[in-house]
Amino acid sequence: MNRKEFLATTFSAGLGLAFMPSLLSCVTPIANHSVFDPLILGVGDLRKVRGNISRYTNKGGTVGVFETKEGFLIIDSQFPDAIQPVLDGISSKGKPVLFLCNTHHHGDHTSGNIAFKDQNTKVVAHQRVPELQRKAAEKSSKLAEQRYATVLFEKEYRIDLGNEKVTGYHFGNGHTFGDVMYHFENDNVVHMGDLMFNNVIPVYRTADGSDSRNWIKVLEKALAKFDDDTIFIFGHANKPELTTGNKANLKEMASFLEASNDFVLKAISEGKSTEQLMKETAFIPGFENRNTPERFAGFLDELRKTLLG
Ligand SMILES: [Zn+2]
Repeated sequence: MNRKEFLATTFSAGLGLAFMPSLLSCVTPIANHSVFDPLILGVGDLRKVRGNISRYTNKGGTVGVFETKEGFLIIDSQFPDAIQPVLDGISSKGKPVLFLCNTHHHGDHTSGNIAFKDQNTKVVAHQRVPELQRKAAEKSSKLAEQRYATVLFEKEYRIDLGNEKVTGYHFGNGHTFGDVMYHFENDNVVHMGDLMFNNVIPVYRTADGSDSRNWIKVLEKALAKFDDDTIFIFGHANKPELTTGNKANLKEMASFLEASNDFVLKAISEGKSTEQLMKETAFIPGFENRNTPERFAGFLDELRKTLLG
């Protein structure tokens, strides 16, 4: 550590990160790679996850922020106004955004793509994402406000950023046809996108590719692929502090989907309508933690489509 770095570290420890002037931005060498100071943002909620990975919540799906010496890799973009504080923070560091990776096409994850003005930023997604994004934008008359991924892949895509390797995996459709989870191998963090909704009923639309039985299989593949030390970032949760977790959360999500399937299959066999079910319960039995009244009826109706299909 040189003198400037030493002073900066001491300064940071003494006054707290909130008072760190960006000019003194320090680099603390740990093992064989450097850990940078997280961005300091006045808006939204940015928290360090591990190493150089942070997660940001403001409005829409959780954003992943990863910094290297050469620039940033961002996962998902919320909405233009919601992602702007992150982009301002990045430009204050004088580094480019090298990659913008989308986890799927939904508007609360891709609408902010257009705020990334640098045309050298590579936008990465599953191969189905641009088509689905375009269709959704057409419906909401927002065709002129899109930036589409141009680096597309089917099953796996690996980005080599020196000390960190980031791999995108498509294990099949769970939430949408274009779901991708991104694994930061060195820091062992996985951004799950909307394959993970924590403590809420997930957004579930069969037309977008939601498939509860397949979703369970996708989560099982993730459980087999990653280890007990992995930290997972979730697309949504009922509180910002619950947007990260571990394998236990993935298992709980899979159990919830399993219980939801059983609940709706039983209703189908008993000839019960969604309205009748809603009179009996406000949540899937055993999962009161996922009590999301505004989504419950739609979720049950859409599950019925999957299970009858
Ligand atoms: Zn989504």
